[in-house]
Amino acid sequence: MAARHDNGGMTTTILRGGRVIDPAAGTEVVADVVVRDGRVAAISAVPLLEDGATVVDVTGLVVGPGFVDLHSHVHSIAGQRLQAFDGVTTNLDLEAGLMPIERAYAEAAAAGRVLNYGFSASWADARGQVLSGVTPTARFDSSTNLLGDPEWQRTSTPAELAAWLDLLERELAGGALGIGILMGYAPRSDPKEYVEVARLAAAAGAPTFTHVRELVEADPTTPIDGSGEVALAAKETGAAMHHCHVNSTSRRHVDRVLGTLDEARAAGSRVSVEVYPYGMGSTSIGAFFLAPERLDAWGLTASSIVMLGSGERIADVRRLAELREQDPGATCVVEFLDERQESDREILRRALAYPDAIVASDAMPLEWPDRRHDTREWPLPPGASTHPRTSGTFARSLRLMVLEHGLWSWAEAFRRCSYLPARVLDEVAPAMRAKGLLAPGADADLVVIDPATLTDHATVHDPTRPSGGVRHLMVGGTFVIRDGALDLDAYPGRAVRGEVR
Ligand SMILES: [Zn+2]
Repeated sequence: MAARHDNGGMTTTILRGGRVIDPAAGTEVVADVVVRDGRVAAISAVPLLEDGATVVDVTGLVVGPGFVDLHSHVHSIAGQRLQAFDGVTTNLDLEAGLMPIERAYAEAAAAGRVLNYGFSASWADARGQVLSGVTPTARFDSSTNLLGDPEWQRTSTPAELAAWLDLLERELAGGALGIGILMGYAPRSDPKEYVEVARLAAAAGAPTFTHVRELVEADPTTPIDGSGEVALAAKETGAAMHHCHVNSTSRRHVDRVLGTLDEARAAGSRVSVEVYPYGMGSTSIGAFFLAPERLDAWGLTASSIVMLGSGERIADVRRLAELREQDPGATCVVEFLDERQESDREILRRALAYPDAIVASDAMPLEWPDRRHDTREWPLPPGASTHPRTSGTFARSLRLMVLEHGLWSWAEAFRRCSYLPARVLDEVAPAMRAKGLLAPGADADLVVIDPATLTDHATVHDPTRPSGGVRHLMVGGTFVIRDGALDLDAYPGRAVRGEVR
């Protein structure tokens, strides 16, 4: 039965008889979930009858709060649809951020969004404006073009520091969800600057999101250990500091890095951490850490790098230098762990299993050969390149940790993918308090998963193949995916904005 009835503008949907997960309480119960007016109205173990309600039978399926992705560089309808099939209902670019923030929100709203969206203040763009005179345009690809610029990477003078801190403060006042810090791309800059950024964030009640600089193990000449820097700044300033993709910046040093974060957390510092379940990363070919002379420290060779788009595996360091020179912003994939080796796969699982580690995708923009980044066509036109994590991070994490290795219960999985990431933003964005939960009053951002078919399908060769197993996906009470099919007219995504003090 699937009757639809308009009840004075309020439709009621009942998801009947699913395995309902509330990660806040850690519970799994067979129940009906009643959705009304964009929110969860009730959860009932007794089957409910309601006149005119749309009833969807979800017997045997897992019902939980949609995934909150803290780290997604997908700023497109096409990319959001791929993430929807991976269970995501809110996708946020908090590591890089966008500037100017008001333009970023206005453009997303004007284009329409499938999923809820939001951005942090971009430390890189604020620095770029002051140190390199580059006016930011609220575009991810223009900020990545900046990253290879040596002028941008240097230490600021006191006046420059004050100028870009002021820009960041204004971005926070404009609705940014904290500050995104791409420290790994300016890794020789003075660590004192970082502490100042953390101080600003602490005063504003806003979290920070860091792509850390080099680890001491990889580069004994680094001004400070990249992961230790996060812990120190959190301790010194009291700021909430989020460590991005601990897998890709730690590589085979992940146990040491997690130990450093453990000590900080045990001492009361507000440190959180995220992981994506792949042994390969993705970045711009011009990144500092891909300089030919730096590969050794990372245990890489030139042939660990594959250019996205062309699929060229880099032959040698001469070719690497050439590509860095020609097009420093071009995207590549870097194999930092060898997933053919069980010992390296085990490293990834340990990172995922770390207590309170959050799953976040680091989803990358889609790019077609004609340089397009978006389309409203679905299925997606062929030929788009991206990192497979864009499409598969969440399904892959659940497949590994819940289905194959039994390391997480479903409640634990939803805690890692929905509940904990939402909590990172509670302070800066009070609206997040209704997300990541499945209880009366929560936002009806819901995912319904069929455990029997849940898996990632994306590969390097076919990176935009959607994950399988998401039967239904609701954003604010509106179906984006129903019975495994995308609703082409659904654009229910809403902005999540910061409200700093
Ligand atoms: Zn990063």
